Amino acid sequence: MEIATKCPICESLGNAVPVYPSNVDETSFSTEIFSARRLPDRRHYQWVRCNKCTLLRSDPVLDVDLEKLYVESTFDYSTEVDGLKKTYFNLVKRALGGKKFKKSIFEVGGGNGFFLEAAKDGGFATVAGVEPSTEAIKAARVDIAPHMIASMMKAGVLADNSFEVGTMFHTLDHLTDPVSTLKNCAAALQTGGVFVVAIHNERSWSARLMGERSPIIDVEHTHLYTRKSGEALFKKIGFIDVRSGAYNNHYSLAYILHLIPISRSFRKRVLESPIGTLLSKIKVIVPLGNMWVAGTKP
Ligand SMILES: [Zn+2]
Repeated sequence: MEIATKCPICESLGNAVPVYPSNVDETSFSTEIFSARRLPDRRHYQWVRCNKCTLLRSDPVLDVDLEKLYVESTFDYSTEVDGLKKTYFNLVKRALGGKKFKKSIFEVGGGNGFFLEAAKDGGFATVAGVEPSTEAIKAARVDIAPHMIASMMKAGVLADNSFEVGTMFHTLDHLTDPVSTLKNCAAALQTGGVFVVAIHNERSWSARLMGERSPIIDVEHTHLYTRKSGEALFKKIGFIDVRSGAYNNHYSLAYILHLIPISRSFRKRVLESPIGTLLSKIKVIVPLGNMWVAGTKP
């Protein structure tokens, strides 16, 4: 069944212009497609741009049990975890500005909790993860696993007013109801606490260059943000001192190849060959069109 979606920022229903037509059918929904870091195959719903606030959203969408798909999703970050740990830890430091928080931090949708490893190793005393995939939690480091909660982020999953920092990396753009998830995240923060997300920037050079063939134009993404619409969403939640910025990724050349819109079978062959192994060892810093948005709980 098709469901019309509403803009989460201005709450318009309709009042949008089509940008890319849908190419989705029932076979687009498998556990594999909803697993982190899979090979992008660019199935997507119709994308429309809100006339009022310019947010890009999937509309309409199919009636799919996303929670079930994410609970059953498998986990495969392979060789990129070290680069992602460095990337995310650095961007949180930047997003916190001068704030010297080291007591408590939580993460929503963090897979096996690799970022929480970086946070703990970087000096945070208390860490907590909220992650629906039980497979991912099973793969968590032994000192992180006891602090992971197998759930979607809902009211009451984390205690109210209890964390200095909250984080969500490349999860916000997957949510069907980003407003309620962000409100639940804000509730878990102490007054003065900071929430940080990392998301794609749909107006970045790479997104503009690739257009519909960009890996971000995908059935998994329900909304795609710019710095302006990302900040507008944070302000709607009630965050103050809302800021955003671009960040660069530390990635291997193998991961870059995985993102390029060429034949999926060709990419798979190269990545599984000795050349793929070599490419996975060469690390580069790349501006992939990602950004962070941060806000403070008043
Ligand atoms: Zn709107």
